[in-house]
Amino acid sequence: MESNGFRELERLKKQLQEKVKSLMTVEEVEKASRDPHSKRPPRPCGLTVHTGIGCPFRCAYCYIYDMGFKAQITEYPLTGIQLVYALSLNKYFIPGPNGTFLALGSVTEPFHPSTKKKTIEYIEAISKYLGNPIQFSTKMFLTDEDVEKLRSINPDISPLVSISTITRDRLLEPGAPRVEKRFETIETLRNHGFKPFLFLRPIIPGITDKEYRDIIDTALKYGAVGVVAGSLRITRRILEKLEENGVDTDAILKRAGKSLTGFENNVQYDVRTDDIKMEIAKYALKKGLLYLPYACMANIFSHGQKCWRMKALGIEPMVKEPPEITGVEEYLDSDELKVKYMGFENGFIKVKVLKGDKKIIEELLKYRFKSCVRLY
Ligand code: SF4
Repeated sequence: MESNGFRELERLKKQLQEKVKSLMTVEEVEKASRDPHSKRPPRPCGLTVHTGIGCPFRCAYCYIYDMGFKAQITEYPLTGIQLVYALSLNKYFIPGPNGTFLALGSVTEPFHPSTKKKTIEYIEAISKYLGNPIQFSTKMFLTDEDVEKLRSINPDISPLVSISTITRDRLLEPGAPRVEKRFETIETLRNHGFKPFLFLRPIIPGITDKEYRDIIDTALKYGAVGVVAGSLRITRRILEKLEENGVDTDAILKRAGKSLTGFENNVQYDVRTDDIKMEIAKYALKKGLLYLPYACMANIFSHGQKCWRMKALGIEPMVKEPPEITGVEEYLDSDELKVKYMGFENGFIKVKVLKGDKKIIEELLKYRFKSCVRLY
């Protein structure tokens, strides 16, 4: 009989809150309770943890500047314990090695000199008190010492090293370390036993589609274990910035299915790159690298786990056995949540929500059954 996931989660989180609360002053507890980490809903690839605010690299394609972040960087104002406490208050967060994936580096550079200490502090606190799978994405040059430090804290962390272009980095990423240094980061990570992935993101049509072979070849030479590719999202400001830097924006607009006059201020639009991703996947696989379409899969892989979507996407031999998905209804059944199980298809558990917070239902099922979830 499946134990009840929701009640178990509540119990675990209470226990955790009591434990870490006793390590803080009243003011520290209050500050952590007000922090956005205590409320932020997870994204499809996990919950983003901010180790800094802002980023000075000024990448032409970066949307953080449209979200109000500045081109200066400061470390995040919580201590490691406060971060753990804030996460434990987040109603969507599931603690533990089989819990919510944590992603560091989505709106800042986690290993910039201004944020590195804080990033290490957060990784230490998460590893000590929570044990959740951690992933970071970076453009920094990491030294042997940096990587050795990381390894001593948590050797399973999933590193993604971001590269979009091998020839236009100076122009499009004016504040970031040169791509050569990032390849060296891949090498150092691999030498210390990590499983670094080339994060081919964002795919800039007209540039990345022409350069991906060279980028992949070089990443392979430096020890990358695989490739994760990600699409570009544009705003009016990003498009103007790319144009200023000589990028052919017509190709991008065509893929966004919009003309510049139709852009609303600060709205992000997806640029369709499925065909380019397919080419990248084929090439990476031909070269003997893994190709994972989602960053969370690299996180799972790094932590020695697997998810059923990988099987549905044909990522063999990582997932072989058919899934055993039983007890879905019992797992959630409580005063707060109720669902009807409707089957499993292509890596997705399908449930009809009868009662309760949809996002909590999705998160509980996703992490318990290592599967994506479709709610009806
Ligand atoms: S390094 Fe990342 S966060 Fe910083 S500007 Fe570039 S894309 Fe944005």
